[in-house]
Amino acid sequence: MSEPIVKLQGVRRVFEGGRVVAVDGIDLTVQPGEFIAITGHSGSGKSTLLNLIGAMDLPSEGTVHVGGIHVTDRRSMERVRSEKIGFVFQMHNLIPVLNAAHNVEVPLIPMRMSSRDRRKKAEELLELVGLGDRSESNVRVLSGGERQRVAIARALAHDPPLLLADEPTGNLDSHTGDEVMALMHRVRAETNAALILVTHNEDLCATADRHLRMQDGHLGPAD
Ligand code: ADP
Ligand code: MG
Repeated sequence: MSEPIVKLQGVRRVFEGGRVVAVDGIDLTVQPGEFIAITGHSGSGKSTLLNLIGAMDLPSEGTVHVGGIHVTDRRSMERVRSEKIGFVFQMHNLIPVLNAAHNVEVPLIPMRMSSRDRRKKAEELLELVGLGDRSESNVRVLSGGERQRVAIARALAHDPPLLLADEPTGNLDSHTGDEVMALMHRVRAETNAALILVTHNEDLCATADRHLRMQDGHLGPAD
């Protein structure tokens, strides 16, 4: 078996001097290309968990490995974020003064790549998410669903082996949300990336390789 893309061992994350236990001893191994859906009530620790896997935060206890990198400090966090992870948030977190293509190019800026190649990659990704004709549009003029599609293109820009999505349709109406979810599904199939998706969409959970539930900081099978 190949090396797991994610390996968490005994991961805990507490806040406020231990009064708040957001993630309470999680073991999780995710294989390359695997699709994991996570559901759970608000406040159960889903975002905290995703932020730990996404190397945006460090655990209070336990170990986090992503793509073979042990996440322990600023340096390893940055390396994981730039090489291993594409993150799609509930809020699109795009840069409002930039057009769609420039937003998609942002993760490519630290790489050794000509501006022409960067632009080409951004246009290909916008094509992939069905926005090939909007690359010059300022993201402020795009609809909620279109912005989330730009955010997905941006998450894919550096070809990460792992996509993380934290309720990516939480701010969209159900029809637009379904379209964005269908897109997540399609890009995953085309990129072979593993996907860890926090969602309340039951249909989508049914298509996942594994459906897990967060409950009071614990992660277990959904049924
Ligand atoms: P979910 O995404 O499932 O809604 P979160 O991971 O956001 O849950 O939060 C889990 C718990 O941790 C909640 O009780 C929340 O208030 C708390 N929490 C999350 N982040 C922080 C923080 N930075 N400081 C203090 N408490 C936090
Ligand atoms: Mg959350």
